[in-house]
Parts: sequence; structure tokens; C-alpha cells
Amino acid sequence: MGYQLKDRLERGFTILKMDLGVNQLIAEPGALSWPQGMLPGDPEDKLERMLNMQTLMHPFTHVRLTPKGIDLLCDYVAQVRAVVGDQVPIAADHFGHIGVDDCIRLGQALEPYNLAWLEDLVPWQYTDAWVQIERALHTPVCTGEDIYLRDGFKPLLEAHAVNVIHPDMATSGGILETKRIGDLAQEYGISMALHMAGTPISTMASVHCAAATENFIALEHHFTDVPFWNDFIDGLPKPIIQNGFIPVPEGPGLGFSINEDVIREHLVPWDRGFFAPTTEWDEQHSHDRLWS
Ligand SMILES: [Mg+2]
Repeated sequence: MGYQLKDRLERGFTILKMDLGVNQLIAEPGALSWPQGMLPGDPEDKLERMLNMQTLMHPFTHVRLTPKGIDLLCDYVAQVRAVVGDQVPIAADHFGHIGVDDCIRLGQALEPYNLAWLEDLVPWQYTDAWVQIERALHTPVCTGEDIYLRDGFKPLLEAHAVNVIHPDMATSGGILETKRIGDLAQEYGISMALHMAGTPISTMASVHCAAATENFIALEHHFTDVPFWNDFIDGLPKPIIQNGFIPVPEGPGLGFSINEDVIREHLVPWDRGFFAPTTEWDEQHSHDRLWS
């Protein structure tokens, strides 16, 4: 992980983020404890256990980090710090479904590593739990990628329950609504990062929104290692991300055109057809939880 992050730095990114949590402890004997009966599935099937754990909201799994588990996570961050150095902001995400007390124990143990923020420790709906965590730590905490509309962010902002909000423009209500969310956070002295795991289309929409706010920190990006990601749109300098930054386009609309041929080349499944109906998703589980 540390070396991957170093590669990102060499590409010009100035803020990094990594996963850190329960998932990397599942296979470690003595790193976690939980009431086995709470989580159905084969006790020997580590993947199944992990997935079952994720269907329960954090307070209800009763998954605990053991002292060994906390030490292992701290060792991991220490190794990353040793590779990338102390001066680079590193955020951490995907802690897993642990309760408030373990979020605090882990957050306090991680404080020497000076992380940029700890993300989605508990579901965003639990404002009071976020207040507990925020007050107990000297590391910024962040949530918001699953929250819809400005009103959804309000309780967290009013309670000063987080230090960073993290809307996803494709979930939070679009360009104008996300600009309003950012501006509201600014009034409370709270910064805004933007969640993004999508195409250049939603990425560029986020760029315009970010450019219109004053409390923006960073836009998430997941496709550094996918070269064709850049080819879905035309009319912009390529690569879209230049030395870690995206120039704001001056052209009309979002400032680019869509390359439908390239999109057709990368359809999944490839033989499905462009804009084909996807009625099966009316029935199937889409892993579309209302929290992270
Ligand atoms: Mg996240």
C-alpha cells in the first residue's frame, strides 16, 4: 500500500486516501471479537463473514477490535508513513462496522500518525455518535457520501459533529445542491471534500462545483490505473488529471463532449447495448445501502 501511495505522489497527487480497518483483520487470529451468532454464515468462510458483517449497521454488529487488532492497524499506518513521509496528508476510510467505542479507541491509537481525516466511522444518520467521536479525537472526522440534499447534512453541521463533509454530487442532489451544501458547511467552519468513484462526466461536474466553493479540499479519484478512463470525453487536455490537478474548462456546459464510441467499447457486459434497459436491477440487490 505504501508504495502504491508513493506512486500517486509521483503522479502529482497532493492528498492521499487508503482503506484501513476490519477487512484487513478478518484473517488475523485474535485481532477481532464478535458474537458468532450475530453473523450468519460459515465460520470458516472469511469473505462470507465479512459480507454478512456489512449488512448490519455498525452499532449492531458488536464487532470489537482487540488490542492486537488495534496494534496491527497502527503498524500498517506506521509502515505507510515510513514510505510516504510525514508531510503528506493521508485520509483513511472503510474502517468496517465497529461501534463508537472502538472507533474512539482506534482513532486515539492512530493519533501519532496525524491522519488527514477518518471517514465513515459510523453511519451518518447517528449524529450523536459522530459528536461523541469528534469530541474524543484530535484527528478530523468526515462523512457524507451517502447523504441526499442539504437538509440531510444539516444535523451534522449544526452539531459540529464532523470536521469535513464528503458529498457525492451524483447522490447529494447535483451541482447546485452540492454547491449549497458546501456553502452551508463553510458557515459552520467545516470543509468539503467530494466523493467520486465515477466517470469523467461526473468528475468534471464535480470540478465545476468545487471551483465555485471556498471550503473545498480534494476530489476523490479511483482510476489512476485505468488509462481509458480519460477517453470517455473529448475536448479537454489529456490526461484529464494533470500533475494531480484538473484545470477548470472554459467551454460551454460542463466544457467537454462525450465520446460515445469509447463508452460503447467499455460497456459491461460488452454485448448489452448502449442505453439498454436494466430492468433486472428492479429486483436484484444492488449493494445500495443508505450508509457506508
Ligand atoms: Mg468513502
